[in-house]
Amino acid sequence: MKQKIQAHNNVLSLIGNTPLFKLNKIVDGFEGNFYAKVEAFNPGHSSKDRIALYIIEEAENKGILTPGDTIIETTSGNTGFSIAMVSIVKGYKCKLAVSSKSSKDKINMLRTMGAEVYVCPAHVSADDPRSYYEVAKRLHSETKGSVYINQYFNELNIDAHYLSTGPEIWNQTNGQITHLVACSGTGGTISGIGRYLKEQNPNIKIIGIDAFGSVLQKFHETGAFHKDEIYPYRIEGLGKNLIPSATDFGIIDSFIKVTDESSAHTAREIAKTEGLFVGYTSGAAMQGIKQLSEEGVFDKDSNVVVIFPDHGSRYMSKIYSDDWMQQQGFFDSVNNETNAISYIK
Ligand code: PMP
Repeated sequence: MKQKIQAHNNVLSLIGNTPLFKLNKIVDGFEGNFYAKVEAFNPGHSSKDRIALYIIEEAENKGILTPGDTIIETTSGNTGFSIAMVSIVKGYKCKLAVSSKSSKDKINMLRTMGAEVYVCPAHVSADDPRSYYEVAKRLHSETKGSVYINQYFNELNIDAHYLSTGPEIWNQTNGQITHLVACSGTGGTISGIGRYLKEQNPNIKIIGIDAFGSVLQKFHETGAFHKDEIYPYRIEGLGKNLIPSATDFGIIDSFIKVTDESSAHTAREIAKTEGLFVGYTSGAAMQGIKQLSEEGVFDKDSNVVVIFPDHGSRYMSKIYSDDWMQQQGFFDSVNNETNAISYIK
């Protein structure tokens, strides 16, 4: 009898079921046990593969999408890349409206994955017809057989994590998780995982990471939108200048804010201590754990799971570039841990 060939039908079957790693050196001296869910192990190198696949398959199940149709979104980041990847495999066209702030590398990554990219001026207001929100809306209304993913305002973003990432973490920890620490952007990740975990054990603490310059923490604490909290910051994918409906603020126990600078250094430290090459927001989440440890939030029985959302390769010209770090003023007499480099002539 012939042996069955051991092959995946396509990359989509590798989405989800990402590994959980025990953190060792970076948490030296902290009370508790710490584990990282490393989402870079998804084939598109981020947690956004999960929502792209789930939302697209839900649209297929409802008969909204049929092969040859078009998927539209407003992102230059991980979600765009994941949607483009799923679209290629499933035979959809993909149109992405991105801001002119997006780097050439990012735009080229999306085009490599077959997406049609619309670069929209960054300096115009959200209701300007040239803004990427308005361009996406226009493309959606003009394109017959199109689906607009709209991740910040799509409940399916939460469901994707409720149905996959949440149960994975519960099973990987055999129900022994005590704290979840996760960045909040759209809020889909923290809300979906948090909702699932709280249903299993309401005592599990759900802690969100927010950026200085974002409104999320203040909104969680006061229930009001504080415009004066908003100012520019560098971390991409974390925090927001609006209140996304894909965030379930009710299941989040607290938020903690981290700085651009400390998050960048902590991301570099993760590589040097754990051998994990992860993105800027992974550094932010780990930085949150450091601050929470200092505040005495954890004890020796704590089993803390932190989400590392994406891969370090996306940040080569940012936090993993010494020149960029220097330009931001992030290297100083204390934090200057750049490695030696020798040119042999
Ligand atoms: N980290 C990165 C790198 C991201 O792209 C995102 C998504 N915006 C997040 C964290 C936050 O995930 P979520 O949108 O599910 O809150």
